[in-house]
Amino acid sequence: MSKNVSENKNDSIKESGEGKTRLKLAIQKSGRLAEESKELLDKCGISFNKSKDQLFCAAQNFPLDVFFVRDDDIPAFVASKVCQVGIVGQNVLNEENILSRNQKLRMVEEILPLGFGRCRLSLAVPHGFEYQGPHSLQGKIIATSYQGILSHYIAQQNIGAEIVDMRGSVEIAPRIGMADAICDLVSSGATLAVNGLKEVETIFQSEAVLIRSPDITAQQNDILNRLITRITGVMQAQSSKYIMLHCPVERVEQIRRVIPGCDSPTILALQGRSDTVAVHAVCNEGIFWETMEQLKSQGASDILVLPIEKMLD
Ligand code: ATP
Ligand code: ZN
Repeated sequence: MSKNVSENKNDSIKESGEGKTRLKLAIQKSGRLAEESKELLDKCGISFNKSKDQLFCAAQNFPLDVFFVRDDDIPAFVASKVCQVGIVGQNVLNEENILSRNQKLRMVEEILPLGFGRCRLSLAVPHGFEYQGPHSLQGKIIATSYQGILSHYIAQQNIGAEIVDMRGSVEIAPRIGMADAICDLVSSGATLAVNGLKEVETIFQSEAVLIRSPDITAQQNDILNRLITRITGVMQAQSSKYIMLHCPVERVEQIRRVIPGCDSPTILALQGRSDTVAVHAVCNEGIFWETMEQLKSQGASDILVLPIEKMLD
């Protein structure tokens, strides 16, 4: 008994990589990406105790150290040797890339889109503005926190517009007479509507991504590959469902074609029922009521759709 306990302790030390190579990950400390970044690590089975205002935290059961920083600092953290990986919006990475003279920053690589933090960088004008296309902004003043991406866009479009750099509350700029238009991040569009603005052009689509530094050791790369495998598994599980149903033997092929994203379902015999089988399948897409109704109309019954917690191919 006591032998087992000490073996377990050794295992957990080995697992946490104490005294060995660890991978350093930068995530947003607080803000729109913070909770989902932490939740993702949690779903990957990586746990850490973080007290308030702590900058750094070592995972207990995975060789990962997490740094909690402002999102704008994440690309620079990853470009330097402070961290090897980070979770950041593509908008921030792109903006820093355009503005920075740091060569290393340009070598920071996006390795995995993470499916959260989705938003778009859009141009918006007051309702009274007669917008007929990007050329309507010729000679106008545009307020933004994204002068890098915006100046790139207006150069591409051949527009002569003046950019006013604002750190926050960009949406109030037209109302207070600071600008004719704005270029800001939008997700639902509610903030624009409240401020009497209409979205007229999307110039950049963004979501949170995992980024990596060009300087990474072979051991850190192994840890990174383990992390990527877990994240991919979590994301696959989130978008997948397990479906179970009963169906007449002769309808199996038709039913299979209706189940979304399913090539080879498991067919199981049912005790005492030679005319009916159970069909079990993992669907790599969500299953909506319409699909269930369609399955029923094809002869399926007892349809159950279950969430999948983890997945490893
Ligand atoms: P920090 O204090 O870390 O600098 P911030 O105020 O610059 O935070 P947040 O508002 O928390 O940033 O947004 C972080 C990221 O969330 C954005 O860079 C973007 O990638 C993403 N995001 C998703 N939806 C939106 C949205 N509607 N508005 C702003 N950002 C959004
Ligand atoms: Zn920021």
